[in-house]
Amino acid sequence: MQKKLFSELGLVPEILKAIERMGFEEASPIQSAAIPVLLEGADVVGQSQTGSGKTAAFGIPAIQCVDASIRAPQVLILCPTRELAVQVAEEIAKLAFFKRGVRELPIYGGQSYERQFKGLHAGAQIIIGTPGRVMDHLERKSLKLDQIKMVILDEADRMLDMGFVDDIKTILRQAPEKRQTVFFSATIPRPIQQLIQTFTHNPVNVRVEAEAMTVPAIEQVYYEVDRRSKLEVLCRLIDLEDVKLAIIFCATKMMVDELTEHLIARGYGADKLHGDMTQAMRERVMGRFRKRKVEFLVATVVAARGLDVDGIDIVFNYDLPHDG
Ligand code: AMP
Repeated sequence: MQKKLFSELGLVPEILKAIERMGFEEASPIQSAAIPVLLEGADVVGQSQTGSGKTAAFGIPAIQCVDASIRAPQVLILCPTRELAVQVAEEIAKLAFFKRGVRELPIYGGQSYERQFKGLHAGAQIIIGTPGRVMDHLERKSLKLDQIKMVILDEADRMLDMGFVDDIKTILRQAPEKRQTVFFSATIPRPIQQLIQTFTHNPVNVRVEAEAMTVPAIEQVYYEVDRRSKLEVLCRLIDLEDVKLAIIFCATKMMVDELTEHLIARGYGADKLHGDMTQAMRERVMGRFRKRKVEFLVATVVAARGLDVDGIDIVFNYDLPHDG
């Protein structure tokens, strides 16, 4: 798949300016392939991973299609987790920086309804939400989909794994018939295939191989160690490699709790992220991690999947990941 220059993709000057400000030099393969097709109005099924630049691949056409003079939701982006919704919203905000009158709004469970009502009332046009909270707003009639032109499902396979399939169907049925539907998914298992068949029209398939990433190549190493020596080996590696910023994935919340305590007891600046924590706590931890106030983020895969933090030296899989 060819890479192109952003200037070849048919983007409005406001967006080109924002891309330049973000420091992107050329479009990634998924962006080169998906952006022109989306701008033409076709449905797209994109198969790519985090790191391929997929957020901008759907975010740029989403911003471009918004009519800033209409103060109603025009694009709906569904994400599996709150963290991802916030991250996507941040990237959209940067890309929309120079397009006046365009507002994005993340809506997710755990955040106060008041803030979300306000944002919706203020006329946000790009809504980035988790399926559960989007359903809540639809039921409360605080979110209306009648002006929606584009629905994007980000990490569709993950949303399926998390049991959101019925919510997704309900939401898609409520969106106007005449709209663009976009699926982004790392894998396309059969239930996703069925959703694609039901809810898209002649979608264009865009696929990028794992190596076609915007992020540099990743070196992977594993160490075979006795269970009892794991902590020791981890600490040695941290010291040896002079790690300044790392994520450590554990299989369970209990392991996350335990390992965080052990690391702190040994003098490492560690904090944790897992599903039992309140949204406010999670955001606080992520904020501290991004600001380098915490060196080691110990997390369950579900809580931290897809997070994108600049400057990470190493990702440790403290327990073997199940899906390789
Ligand atoms: P994503 O796959 O959307 O999670 O993006 C991964 C990272 O790549 C994010 O930090 C993006 O801001 C960044 N990125 C996206 N597009 C480009 C590009 N064309 N050039 C350089 N970096 C990019």
